[in-house]
Amino acid sequence: MPLVSMRQLLDEAAKGGYGVGAFNVNNMEQIQAIMEAAQQTKSPVIIQASRGARQYAQDRYLYHLMLAAAELYPEIPIAMHQDHGNSFETCKSAIELGFTSVMMDGSLKADGKTPTEFEENVEVTRRVVDFAHERGVTVEGEIGVLGGIEDGHGAGGTGLEHVTDPDQAVEFAERTGVDALAIAIGTSHGAYKFSKKPDGSVLKMDILIEIHKRLPKTHLVMHGSSSVPKDLQDVVNQYGGKLKETWGVPVEEIQLGIQHGVRKINVDTDNRLAITGAIRKVLWESPEKFDPRDYNKPAREAMQKVVATRMTQFGQAGHAGDYSPLAIADIAKGYADGSLVTAPLVSAK
Ligand SMILES: [Zn+2]
Repeated sequence: MPLVSMRQLLDEAAKGGYGVGAFNVNNMEQIQAIMEAAQQTKSPVIIQASRGARQYAQDRYLYHLMLAAAELYPEIPIAMHQDHGNSFETCKSAIELGFTSVMMDGSLKADGKTPTEFEENVEVTRRVVDFAHERGVTVEGEIGVLGGIEDGHGAGGTGLEHVTDPDQAVEFAERTGVDALAIAIGTSHGAYKFSKKPDGSVLKMDILIEIHKRLPKTHLVMHGSSSVPKDLQDVVNQYGGKLKETWGVPVEEIQLGIQHGVRKINVDTDNRLAITGAIRKVLWESPEKFDPRDYNKPAREAMQKVVATRMTQFGQAGHAGDYSPLAIADIAKGYADGSLVTAPLVSAK
């Protein structure tokens, strides 16, 4: 199966009432872990690469690893997504490389740090949408600013400094025509999201619910949504790691989001923790080992386990065979003839 449109994948998720995990990759083992988990749970999947990942792995390696995944697992729909594009040029280069979906994060300037003005965000996102939709490629935008920093991208802070304003979200979706919208509801990138188990004072699920009511056709995206489970932190620390105690986004809050329009859930930190914990364990227990396969194999297995668990929790498990993916050229036609344009049904406040 060729790489498929993320828009189609999310439309199907909306029909089925489930969410789809978007897992970050930098290397072959991470792609293998995700694909094994997808096959095991029969899940459609979004694999995403940040700018940092594209630099680390090099574009051609990443792209051909993705093609290998599509070739080896023809029964699994796979969308390949650019995570946090910082400019029109980054998104354009991803599209030209063969990504089937891009995120234009116009909530920050091209430096990836400084929050933008609303108009600036609308303008750059609209430009990306015009370029992408003509080519059948999906676009995710962001309104409001997430907390934390990951891969050098982010405004820092707690995640509560620029929570999304629902009025702005509606105007943004209408004026840009994005397929999916990342909103800021208090989550942060990285491992240190919350200093205690998050409640309504730090995780604004009520805002998410309101935005979905007013934008029922726009697929919502939760970023910084690793759950950072204690058992993964413990493995790292048990074998010489020094992570400070931290809390992520509880799975039940993500499941509540999925009931209210969340279709894409970004998970990276949990996989990083699983990999690092597994590698530390091998090196700690068997300091005589020096074949990278001795620790990469358990690391890959540890990540597969986390991904399969999330796929089941998000509800995407069992849905890989529900539909026949459309060719990207047909998706482009859908945007051109209006059948796919996201014209949000905006209901009164
Ligand atoms: Zn993100």
